[in-house]
Amino acid sequence: MHYNRLGRSGLQLSALSLGSWVTYHNQVDVKSAVELMAAAHDAGVNFFDNAEAYALGASETVMGEALRQLDWPRLNYVVSSKFYWGLDRGDRPAINRRNTLNRKYLLQAVDGSLKRFGLDFIDLVFCHRPDPHTPIEETVWAMHQMIADGKALYWGTSEWSAAEIRAAWEIAERHHLHKPVMEQPQYNLLHRARVEQEYARLYEDCGLGLTTWSPLASGLLSGKYRQGIPEGSRGAMENMAFLREGLTSPARNAVVEQLAPIAQELGGSLAQLAIAWATMNPRVSTVILGASRASQLQENLGALALRERLTPELMARIEAITAPVAA
Ligand code: NDP
Repeated sequence: MHYNRLGRSGLQLSALSLGSWVTYHNQVDVKSAVELMAAAHDAGVNFFDNAEAYALGASETVMGEALRQLDWPRLNYVVSSKFYWGLDRGDRPAINRRNTLNRKYLLQAVDGSLKRFGLDFIDLVFCHRPDPHTPIEETVWAMHQMIADGKALYWGTSEWSAAEIRAAWEIAERHHLHKPVMEQPQYNLLHRARVEQEYARLYEDCGLGLTTWSPLASGLLSGKYRQGIPEGSRGAMENMAFLREGLTSPARNAVVEQLAPIAQELGGSLAQLAIAWATMNPRVSTVILGASRASQLQENLGALALRERLTPELMARIEAITAPVAA
């Protein structure tokens, strides 16, 4: 494993990390979470990603219980959560807990996450999406407050536009508040424009770090959707039906087919090739892996071994195959 600074911050994250979206609570119970996290930790992973909205809070409960059982020193791991969608409890939607980044919601949401995790603080907290109905200034002050209160250590954004991130950073700079230090965007062989183009100026100007998501485009880049939707896969899950069109797209699967000989030349799998490629971008602090079972995680952690074999010539071949279809 190697470690990268999270943008301009002093925090070092493992180049590969492990997330819990879709999996924890739905496919992964506490016992499996302990197994996955222990395997990741043994390989040098020090960051575990989560969010309030994952499994409506249950993903944080599962991870919290796993952490209790694993009993690692608190200094040795980094945990995140993200806020925006809110949890609806009770018999009617609470107007201030839905799709918002207002101060009231954010400062209550972090308390809920801390309770579910059973932790005293969360290392990284993200604004999970931008909220056009709350002044960015209000959100920046609330995120600063979370850190000032000792409930979080670093804050950032997820899927914000470059303009929104810069606006938040400048407000924090102007008022001497804790600044956003990281963004969590989707980044994989088929989804690149935001990381490579839109954010280009932010890395130096604001010291932005990246914790990137869906390195396999929800499993597509492993090649397993080339013959349709396999049983037991994410694409077969009823509540993931919105992903099916993308997962079975003939154009996207044709790209995966063309990548197969390159993976073979490298002596790795398609999944390992896709993950290794994502780690090659020096702006990426950590690539967050997803895994519904231990065998996938073992395979995916093996991606780092391919890095040194990814020569400029091979990177150029990958570029020629993927660039025409990447968003
Ligand atoms: P991937 O694109 O890597 O997809 C992971 C899924 O692909 C697994 O759950 C598994 O699904 C399948 N898979 C993984 N490895 C293999 C393999 N070797 N062979 C075959 N299938 C495999 O990542 P995710 O989409 O899960 O994203 C990673 C993390 O990023 C999330 O857990 C979350 O923490 C974060 N994230 C953040 C978002 C945000 O808005 N900030 C949005 C989405 C994710 P299965 O076995 O069920 O088919």
